[in-house]
This record gives sequence, C-alpha cells and structure tokens, in this order.
Amino acid sequence: MGEPQFPVAVDALSLVDVGHGVQISFTSWGPHPRVGLTVFHVCTGGNCRETGPDGQRNWCGGGVLFDLPGVREAFPDRALWTVESFDPLTLSPSLQCACPGCTHHGYIRAGRWEPC
Ligand SMILES: [Zn+2]
Ligand SMILES: [Zn+2]
Repeated sequence: MGEPQFPVAVDALSLVDVGHGVQISFTSWGPHPRVGLTVFHVCTGGNCRETGPDGQRNWCGGGVLFDLPGVREAFPDRALWTVESFDPLTLSPSLQCACPGCTHHGYIRAGRWEPC
C-alpha cells in the first residue's frame, strides 16, 4: 500500500465497513468516482492519531490506486491494484499497510476484508 494519506478528515468520508474493523473509502479523481481507495484501520504500530469511526484517535489509513484505463497513464510510477470485481469488490494483490511498525495486512474479496 502507499504512504499514509494524512491529514484526512475520516468522518467527512463515505466509509464502507468491510469487516474485521476495516473501513474503506473510494477515491475519486476528475470524472471517475472509483479510481482507488483508502483503507482505514486501527494502527498496530501506535504511530497514527487520526480519529476513527469509533471516536478513538489511533487510526491509520493507506491508499491504493486501481489499474484502470487512464490511471496507469496518469501514474506510470505507482503500483496499481487489479479490480477483479467492483460489486462486490475484489482486489488483487493483498493490501499491506506501509505505516512504520503497522502490521495490518489482508485482502478485499467479495466486499469483505480477509486478514493475512
Ligand atoms: Zn496501518
Ligand atoms: Zn499507522
């Protein structure tokens, strides 16, 4: 996963609960409503202080971009994730948090988080 994308107002985002304490928010870009997402979770490294949906200030978030027409051309140097299905959402490969010390890692398959 990419670098943590803070500061961001988590409560201003449209969060989707995918289970295991993980919330996702799609990233829009120009006319494209779903070019990537941010994965929010409790930071296991103790580094992050964003307020999560539970009101606790220990949340972490990292963003990924999808391998879609236009995205690869716009971001040739970024790792991109394959969308196997949008509805329900299935991505590959897995999503591993890049926050220092945070071990959060899993898959999104069929709209659900599957811990690694
Ligand atoms: Zn993390
Ligand atoms: Zn973190």
